[in-house]
Amino acid sequence: MSLEHKLGIHASPTCVLQFGDEGGAIGWLVGEENRGMRCMFTMMNHARINVGLQGVSIAERAYQQAVAYARDRVQSADISQPGGDGVPIIRHADVRRMLMTMKANTEAVRALAYYNAAAVDRAHFGASDDERKAAQGLADLLTPVTKAFATDLGVETTSLAIQIHGGMGYVEETGVAQHYRDARIAPIYEGTNGIQAMDLVGRKLMMEGGLHWRELFQQIRDDLGDLPSKGIWAFWPLIWRMGLMPCKMPRSG
Ligand SMILES: Cc1cc2nc3c(=O)[nH]c(=O)nc-3n(C[C@H](O)[C@H](O)[C@H](O)COP(=O)(O)OP(=O)(O)OC[C@H]3O[C@@H](n4cnc5c(N)ncnc54)[C@H](O)[C@@H]3O)c2cc1C
Repeated sequence: MSLEHKLGIHASPTCVLQFGDEGGAIGWLVGEENRGMRCMFTMMNHARINVGLQGVSIAERAYQQAVAYARDRVQSADISQPGGDGVPIIRHADVRRMLMTMKANTEAVRALAYYNAAAVDRAHFGASDDERKAAQGLADLLTPVTKAFATDLGVETTSLAIQIHGGMGYVEETGVAQHYRDARIAPIYEGTNGIQAMDLVGRKLMMEGGLHWRELFQQIRDDLGDLPSKGIWAFWPLIWRMGLMPCKMPRSG
């Protein structure tokens, strides 16, 4: 037996086990024969949504830390006042771009994960067979997307948090590098994101002749139905919820 020396998640110690003195060991069948994969996938589907939520959570934590640092760190004059005093870096356009990218990405994957989880709930507790079946199809379709998209953005967002910290992001004292190291496992475990993509394209899109993705796309079309007549304002509720309006920008003070 030996402890694993990992890139991150050091609070979750894991080890290598070798069974039997000569590498051999006796195994016992648990449950019915040839039903193991099916049972495992019940667990795996929940685990995949949970790992997606790890991506959301760590992105949110990294964002909060980056905003706090950007308000505190003073560097360079405001571009509109050349030669002036240094200002907190949150006043610089490129830093704001990174913060808004982090925020938009985090809110998007948060919404996706909640939508996915609500579909799982409706698959269990929907009022009718039809509703439960449709919800299960949606949950099956979205699960690999939640897992892969949220964990990829978890890595991207924690990387941006390091960038916002500049050189201090690369040294351990600020703590921001830990988020990046911790986030890096999520695209790998519970099925790598490449495997999630294969699951989506190879199995989920074709379930019931493509019924579920067509229903999802129809739902999206219905939500955006009156876009041409309203222009950008049709997006207002979405924009507001995702915190993209200037009034929702991280405050510089
Ligand atoms: C910290 C940690 C904790 C873990 N915890 C658990 C746990 O609790 N339980 C558990 O069962 N496992 C656990 N794992 C294992 C983890 O789930 C696997 O490492 C992961 O699923 C990837 O499998 P692999 O390492 O065999 O990589 P491989 O399967 O060797 O994959 C290597 C690369 O090849 C790609 N690849 C593989 N096959 C294909 C293909 N057919 N087509 C295209 N690309 C492919 C992969 O996407 C990946 O990029 C853990 C791993 C780590 C690091």
